[in-house]
Amino acid sequence: MEQSRTDSSLNGSVLVLNRFYMAVHVVSVRRALVILYRELAEVIHVEDGHYSNYDFESWLEISEFTLADEVEQKLNHEWIRSVNFAVLVPRVIRLNSYDKIPKLTLRFNRRNLFARDNHTCQYCGMQLALRHLSFDHVIPRSQGGKTTWENVVCCCLQCNGKKGDRAPEEAGMQLMQKPKRPRQSPVLTVKLDNPKYEVWRTFLKGSSLALDA
Ligand SMILES: [Zn+2]
Repeated sequence: MEQSRTDSSLNGSVLVLNRFYMAVHVVSVRRALVILYRELAEVIHVEDGHYSNYDFESWLEISEFTLADEVEQKLNHEWIRSVNFAVLVPRVIRLNSYDKIPKLTLRFNRRNLFARDNHTCQYCGMQLALRHLSFDHVIPRSQGGKTTWENVVCCCLQCNGKKGDRAPEEAGMQLMQKPKRPRQSPVLTVKLDNPKYEVWRTFLKGSSLALDA
């Protein structure tokens, strides 16, 4: 598939459902298009609260019609365009033969931790870019502190240096809030704040989908 100038659309995210319409994963648009192209999945298109299923070929057709409409109505869809065709960016796909039930685990990693703390230093409250962030063991490892959701927080480099190998009270510092294990994937929570991914909600009700993507 030829790559177009709409690179940012390719890096968006697509919710993946199993055969029973249960959310199992999130993949990049690029990956979703490969899966569709190989006919391993279909597009679930949600419009006005109803959803319709399309295989890749019919999705290309729908894209073509929508494109014609769009010229007239200036609808705000996202597109992947190449020299020969334009395809609407799908938001949800459903795997044709995958019938496993999602695992109810939440991976402890930097990405999820920073998302939980909203990229905000839990000592000074500064929201910073990734390169300015680190993480801190509230009770230092040297004092038996564990690497868990309850003992690790997002921290700016400056506060990290200031705190050093001490507990907050020893360093005269205070946490903004007590760190907790999130109830659902923090990365997913961030996505759901974006209106672009509004349609995901339908499939996430009651799901404890954990993202390790
Ligand atoms: Zn700080």
